Amino acid sequence: MKVLLTGGAGFIGSHIAEELIKEDYEVVILDSLVTGQELNIPAGARFYHIDIRGNLDPIFLAEKPDYVIHQAAQVSVSNSLTHPKLDGESNIIGTINLLNACVRHQTKKFIFASTAALYGNPNYLSIDEEHPVLPKSFYGLSKLNAESYIKLFSELYGLSYTILRYSNVYGMRQDTNGEAGVVAIFIKRAITGQSLNIHGDGFQTRDFVFVKDVAKANAAAILYGENEVINISNNTQTSIKDIVSELNYLLDSEIMPIYGQERKGDIRHSCLSNKKAIKLLKWEPRYSFIDGLRETVASMGQIQLKA
Ligand code: NAD
Repeated sequence: MKVLLTGGAGFIGSHIAEELIKEDYEVVILDSLVTGQELNIPAGARFYHIDIRGNLDPIFLAEKPDYVIHQAAQVSVSNSLTHPKLDGESNIIGTINLLNACVRHQTKKFIFASTAALYGNPNYLSIDEEHPVLPKSFYGLSKLNAESYIKLFSELYGLSYTILRYSNVYGMRQDTNGEAGVVAIFIKRAITGQSLNIHGDGFQTRDFVFVKDVAKANAAAILYGENEVINISNNTQTSIKDIVSELNYLLDSEIMPIYGQERKGDIRHSCLSNKKAIKLLKWEPRYSFIDGLRETVASMGQIQLKA
């Protein structure tokens, strides 16, 4: 069976590629390398350097993929606020272009990387899939629109799908430049002896899910979760202060964070229910936060870690 994976040169996509190859799928990657890197692509995957908004017919004709896993996106919340058109072109128009190709070439299933960002400020925790959606950024809005297009393509043309809404993903190969995830930034700064800057009091929480668990959820979605929207998370709240403590424990260090102004518009607490994923995808997260953090730090070289 062959999977066409968009965004496979990126952080999450490259782990999905590895997982699929391990599970004996043939993997074809489409990536424009706008944020991804060719060296992230695992051996064994075929690579096309192309933007998902381009003409995809020749690739679909040549490769005849059975499944499409769509990870490529404009992923930065702040870029979406300064460049909403670019965000919409990549995340909405790019997705429509891919959906069109899937229908024209009879793809069996479309699996989509969506986000907790479309829930906005939570009314309750843990946020389940029935929670109202009210995005606070154009990024969240473009992902919500992409979801709506996927559902209507399915209704009109019978394209089967699974939409996965990830919480905060962390792990190896996460970009530490620009607007990277807090875990990646903190690890890099901690191991190079730099200060850790916290916006606000540090008691704000996020639900961190390890990238290898996310990769397995995508592989599970090939088989299960037909026409469903499913949260992918650890269903645990970890505070920003907790990340500092866990890093200090692992590195046997005593880094004191520097507290700054709370960022306007930041959500105080976030946690996604993963009950539906456990039930429908026959998947559950295998990594606790400390285990995922240990594996991520260990991958960064000769660092002495506490057991
Ligand atoms: P990433 O930037 O590392 O990966 C995105 C990849 O897509 C990159 O390789 C990039 O070059 C490629 N790409 C971007 N636009 C493209 C285009 N128009 N055509 C072709 N390729 C293009 O980001 P990531 O964190 O790995 O995110 C993967 C997916 O997961 C995204 O859809 C993102 O919205 C979603 N997501 C990520 C998180 C997270 O915490 N990282 C959380 C929720 C959802």
